[in-house]
Amino acid sequence: MKLYWSPVELASRLARRGVKYNFASGAPDPDLLPFDELRKSFERVYEEYGKAIIAYPGAGGLRELRVELSRYVNRVLGINANWRDVIVTAGAQHAIKLLSQLLMRRRTVVYVEDPTFVETVAPMKFQGAKLIGVPIDNEGMNIHELERLVKIHGPGIVYTVPNCHNPTGVSLSRDRRKHLIEIAREHELTIIEDDPYTSLHSNAEPTLKSMSDDVVYVGTLSKVLGPGLRIGFVITNGALRNNLEKLEQHDFAASTLNQYLVYDLLRRGVADDVVRRARELYPRKLRELIEALDEYLPNALIYRPICGFYAFINTGVNAWELLRRSIRQGVVFVPGGKFFISGAKENTARLSIGSIRIDLIREGVKTLSSVIMAT
Ligand code: PMP
Repeated sequence: MKLYWSPVELASRLARRGVKYNFASGAPDPDLLPFDELRKSFERVYEEYGKAIIAYPGAGGLRELRVELSRYVNRVLGINANWRDVIVTAGAQHAIKLLSQLLMRRRTVVYVEDPTFVETVAPMKFQGAKLIGVPIDNEGMNIHELERLVKIHGPGIVYTVPNCHNPTGVSLSRDRRKHLIEIAREHELTIIEDDPYTSLHSNAEPTLKSMSDDVVYVGTLSKVLGPGLRIGFVITNGALRNNLEKLEQHDFAASTLNQYLVYDLLRRGVADDVVRRARELYPRKLRELIEALDEYLPNALIYRPICGFYAFINTGVNAWELLRRSIRQGVVFVPGGKFFISGAKENTARLSIGSIRIDLIREGVKTLSSVIMAT
């Protein structure tokens, strides 16, 4: 098994050298993160819980946090879950790694959007899963095509980012959601819904989990409270929930201290406050990006993004080559080739509005377009 550096990591390393226009990072806007509140939370849990904050966490996570998370997903995402069905992980990425270890073996069939998020499919490939790419358009995964592929390759798992997809920015339409849930029942497909972005947008479609309890839901606090806290969660039930709790003991990866901090930030309403501000800022940033692309790189957008952080574009030239040139003008992005399951298209790129300042987006796109024109 050969392991690769993720293209997101590579581009982020370049960005650390101090670029002006960082379209590479999927990290949230630093201005939204509740940095001062974090300090208050530390003081509160230090006083209230003492040395328990540095004890081992219990299997499945801190009970107080699980309870707060079940309330949070209800308030913000319309998901009804018993706190026992919420299993805390060290971020969504860790959650997907654990789920891959539990559900996937050599040749397990996993249906994914094509393109898909390169980092979350890495642990699936590591398990030896057989990834089947399903085409995606402006209404999300093509479910008719999924159904056709299931008839060929058989039952398995559907890994999907139905809202604010990474890297394309599209969302699964309401009709396709119903269809997906129907065919999952009919063909014994387990749906894993990876959902980091729904909470950041008030216009997002309802989660699959809120439509069907059979869905295995993966959530994260990375985009709301800070990715370095490494707190995410899975909502599932029955045998899978029990096994996840047991597997989670193999590494106890979610730090007790961070679980207490996130618990306190949730109970004081700090996360809700960030969500409120995020729902105002990120849609504006995404609109700014789309308008700038329409003006300076018309026809570049392959999909019309409607929420989340990302736009996926046709660069017209090899994107790694373009990146080498654009860095000199202060622009970084993530080349898109590695996001594809079949037939890597190397003339594509993912642009993110996550952490770039809103007032730099237009100028950044203009600079990128001038580099493309000169290539
Ligand atoms: N899944 C998707 C679709 C993502 O976009 C991201 C973050 N870029 C993750 C998972 C990972 O999130 P976390 O920081 O919680 O591991």
